[in-house]
Amino acid sequence: MNKQKIVILGGGYGGLQTVVKLQKSLSPNEAEIILVNNHPYHYETTWLHEAAAGTLQPERVRYSIEDIIDQRKVQFVQDTVEKIIPEEKKVQLGTRELSYDYLVVALGAEAETFGIKGLKEHAFTISNLDSARKIKEHIEYVFSTYHSDGRNTDEQLSIVVGGAGFTGIEFLGELVNRIPKLCDTYQIKRENVKVYCIEAAPTVLPGFDPELVKYAKSVLEKKGVEFLIGTPIKECTKEGVLVDQGNGETKLIKANTVVWAAGVRGNSVIEKSGFENVRARVAVDSYLRAPGYDDVFIIGDCSAVINKETNRPYPPTAQIAMQQGKLVAKNLKLLLQGKKDLETFVFDNKGTVCSLGEDDAVGIVFGKKITGFKASFMKKVIDNRSLFLIGGTSLVLKKGKLKLF
Ligand code: FAD
Repeated sequence: MNKQKIVILGGGYGGLQTVVKLQKSLSPNEAEIILVNNHPYHYETTWLHEAAAGTLQPERVRYSIEDIIDQRKVQFVQDTVEKIIPEEKKVQLGTRELSYDYLVVALGAEAETFGIKGLKEHAFTISNLDSARKIKEHIEYVFSTYHSDGRNTDEQLSIVVGGAGFTGIEFLGELVNRIPKLCDTYQIKRENVKVYCIEAAPTVLPGFDPELVKYAKSVLEKKGVEFLIGTPIKECTKEGVLVDQGNGETKLIKANTVVWAAGVRGNSVIEKSGFENVRARVAVDSYLRAPGYDDVFIIGDCSAVINKETNRPYPPTAQIAMQQGKLVAKNLKLLLQGKKDLETFVFDNKGTVCSLGEDDAVGIVFGKKITGFKASFMKKVIDNRSLFLIGGTSLVLKKGKLKLF
């Protein structure tokens, strides 16, 4: 009898969690499992702000996929997914085509620029390891050439971060810790470096607890971040960003570095493949399947699961992506066994912690508010936990944040 073929697209949190659970629960003759990812490595998306600010070496953020998979049970294909043709049960890759019996789509997110002019051309985004590395190198270059390139203007050192959501705030937390070190290395006065955080919404960390928001904002302000809240960015140019002043006029904030961290959408492969979607996120059914396709599971940032309390989709997080991966693996095993009663997905929200640099953070964990060292410690526990769920103790020892030995 032909083995059923399971194809998993994306080796991030959701995809790898699916794979490791499947390889634990299935024997090699139960299914053919293929994992496709565009790099030979997995990167910790939740650590990219550290790589971008230069507080963590990019190599620390990634690990080899082949070290994680059981190659007797899982075939790894390094290629780019171009399009899914669900009617034909096929996936077009950059160099070949794959067929499947069951498909798991876990291709993560892309930056959402909301059509703002010039962002694609002139702003950096923290979307993947390469884009994070580009930010780090650019900032280092700007500082290292400040005295030698003849311009010597402060705008050259100014940095604008667009967005005061989790990604923007976590990046700022790392950045303001890194800047004094860069100033020291390149003999630049700290007061010559301006860091702006520009947010269209009326608050920092929209939707988060107001007391924690106040704490986070004040920590960053003390370290030199200037917040422009309720201030939409209208355009990004070579000189910086044009912001709406609220009186019909725009003002130019000059900056040599603009990092756009104000929104994500699902992967554009979703749109190209014709799934019903809103901003490349698919409203999946309670088993995490795409509407109309019982053989296609969509998880992580490409999926939208409605929170019944708010009637809005849960924010895309690594936490939900990994829980989805675990459930999909369980249901795939049931399907292979010919069972019809699948388990439904229920998100178990364990909390959220937003880091403010190496040694500070704010969060709500198991319903309790935490700040400072305690929150920062908890953040590292969470980071280690996600490594553990994918690669066990050996991966935690290799890449983990809390080095106990
Ligand atoms: P990802 O983990 O991003 O994986 C997608 C994978 O698909 C990648 O390996 C990518 O290389 C691959 N891929 C993409 N396109 C293609 C293609 N066309 N072909 C082949 N392969 C492809 N969430 C939290 O829960 N807690 C946090 O503290 C947190 N902090 C964050 C900080 C930052 C800076 C960022 C950017 C995000 C943060 N998030 C956090 C959100 C979290 O990282 C995402 O929700 C999570 O990564 C989604 O998992 P995923 O499996 O959908 O995608």
